[in-house]
Amino acid sequence: MNILLYIIIFIMGTVFGSFLTLATYRIPLNQDITHKHSYCPKCNHKLNFLDMIPVWSYIFLGAKCRYCKSKIGPRYFIIEILCGIAFLALALFLNISVYTLTLNKLIEFAFGALYIVFLFLVAGIDIEHNKVDKRVLIYGLVIAISYMIYQYTCFSNFNVNRFILYLVVIALILIFSTYRIKKVGKDEYVFNTLILCLIMTFFTYEVTTIISIIITLLVIAIKIILNKILNKRKKYKINIENQPIAFYLCIANSLTTIFIYILSIVGD
Ligand SMILES: [Zn+2]
Repeated sequence: MNILLYIIIFIMGTVFGSFLTLATYRIPLNQDITHKHSYCPKCNHKLNFLDMIPVWSYIFLGAKCRYCKSKIGPRYFIIEILCGIAFLALALFLNISVYTLTLNKLIEFAFGALYIVFLFLVAGIDIEHNKVDKRVLIYGLVIAISYMIYQYTCFSNFNVNRFILYLVVIALILIFSTYRIKKVGKDEYVFNTLILCLIMTFFTYEVTTIISIIITLLVIAIKIILNKILNKRKKYKINIENQPIAFYLCIANSLTTIFIYILSIVGD
């Protein structure tokens, strides 16, 4: 029975993944993500139900659009599979089983899934457009606050003060960045990345966030050093400004969470 539950959770993850590929494409273009029908970005043909089954459609249609036969990048397929795996990992992490399923476990799973969606959105939009979208951050903030309220009402030992402090800091950054947008005329990456780190802390705590930041800085440092060594004569330069920092943070955050989880199992 548990196998069946885990298969359903995996499929659910791929469905979310399929929505995410659409959302990371449409949100930066300011297009509607819920109402407008899905379409092929090349020929604009409307997609029907059979064209949109996660993973399966990609394999069945041979990685091509059914109508214009233009190639569909592996990006869709990879994101769908990854999201399925992330949902599966979350279920294992929470030790979800048909026999011991409680309402609290389900709520925890729902929050975890919403957080995974958040990470995918931030990472996807950053890798494609090199920016952290404010609307996605607001979504993250809403689920973070809801999660905090849930924990506060359900667990008596939950330390709420720490998180209220974070909320105040986020509010200050938001006010300051709005002021900067008016002055400079564009949204600044660094403020949004700071808010991202604080939202991460709500879900995966301080240690994980700090490790994620260290990993991200190390990766960027190694990239810059390698770039300097390998391209001594070429003009191509890697600057810290054009690095997908938020993307690295999201990956480091997921990997660190999984790593800490594995350590906790081995430790038992
Ligand atoms: Zn097409």
